[in-house]
Amino acid sequence: MNRMNKRIYLDYAATTPLHPEVLEVMKIYFLEEFGNPSSVHTSGQKAREAIENARRTIAEALGARPDEIIFTSGGSESDNTAIKGVAYAMAEKGNHIITTKIEHHAVLEPFHFLQAHGFKATFLPVDRYGIVDPDDVKKAITDKTILVSIMHANNEIGTIEPIEEISKICRQKGVYFHTDAVQSFGAIDTNVNSLGVDLLSISAHKFYGPKGVGVLYIRKGTRIEPLLHGGAQEMGKRASTHNVPGIVGMAKAVELAIKEMPQRVEHSRRLRDKLIKCLLDNVDDIILNGHPQKRLPNNCHVIVKYIEGEALLMRLDQIGIEVATGSACSSGSLEPSHVLTALGVPIEDARGSIRMTLGRLTTDEDIDFVCEHFPRIVKELRAISPLTGK
Ligand SMILES: *Cc1c(COP(=O)(O)O)cnc(C)c1O
Repeated sequence: MNRMNKRIYLDYAATTPLHPEVLEVMKIYFLEEFGNPSSVHTSGQKAREAIENARRTIAEALGARPDEIIFTSGGSESDNTAIKGVAYAMAEKGNHIITTKIEHHAVLEPFHFLQAHGFKATFLPVDRYGIVDPDDVKKAITDKTILVSIMHANNEIGTIEPIEEISKICRQKGVYFHTDAVQSFGAIDTNVNSLGVDLLSISAHKFYGPKGVGVLYIRKGTRIEPLLHGGAQEMGKRASTHNVPGIVGMAKAVELAIKEMPQRVEHSRRLRDKLIKCLLDNVDDIILNGHPQKRLPNNCHVIVKYIEGEALLMRLDQIGIEVATGSACSSGSLEPSHVLTALGVPIEDARGSIRMTLGRLTTDEDIDFVCEHFPRIVKELRAISPLTGK
């Protein structure tokens, strides 16, 4: 059967389709209310009102105050601002920063950049499920530590980190704590006070909002240098004319994510569990990665031994099934993902890794179709595989 005319999108961790209601509210701010929020006239004030309403909506969803929310161009900018911003603002107190080996590149690369500019960085290990030990955080903190950045949920394997425990340690030690909540927002509680974080990043396109817009939560009193210098937008913390349609769209997406969270989670989890069961029952030598329970409800990440993940991805794509190998940013290169390496997965196994992430529009029929074809394609690939074993 050729289903080329219908694509089964199983890559919601890479991005999500815009929610139709989000597009509706955005349209107005492209076509009619196009003013610059920094302008004093009526058009400007209408745009200003729209972004301040958006700020209130998003603040409320995170349990924050509106003046603790700054708008950015997405998850990468929020992470960069949190890390470099705090590092430069706090440089006179110390030069030591702590993160983990399994962060998104938007966190790892700012750490590498700061290392090249005189900061000392610690990259904490994780256990075989991808969980960071809060005790390791405690032991790593010194008098010189100024920031800890640990992701809420991992984008490859879906593992959820013990953020509440880690934040308590950071608070006791007087060290700022940032979390990248780009994958967790809309799937698990991201209230900044229950998490106990000082900084938190989210990105609209990961929860059915537009691409190119995000938020950095900065707890009141947290010292931070801006990344972008120029106009006085965002309380002087981020220059550049506001992306008004994007911000308004993101607020709508936040509102929908909070309202629909229980149904969305239940929907993804049910289909995801069905998918995992089908794969484990019908494919030999397959391993589920990430924590069996402490994981995002929409994440299925497996190692299919004795095949190349890329080959499987291409074969699945030919029949309309869209998946990822490793993380989106590292596909295209054959290097094993840094996350799988940190879990201790052997290189030859890491090559057979496949990530499937589900969402709002995934259906039972989609999963049935995957169940029908995935095991067959694996058998065919193994029959011609030069890799050892089968
Ligand atoms: C997607 C993602 C980012 C980057 O967000 P962008 O808005 O695409 O820049 C950062 N961290 C995590 C965990 C992500 O999944």
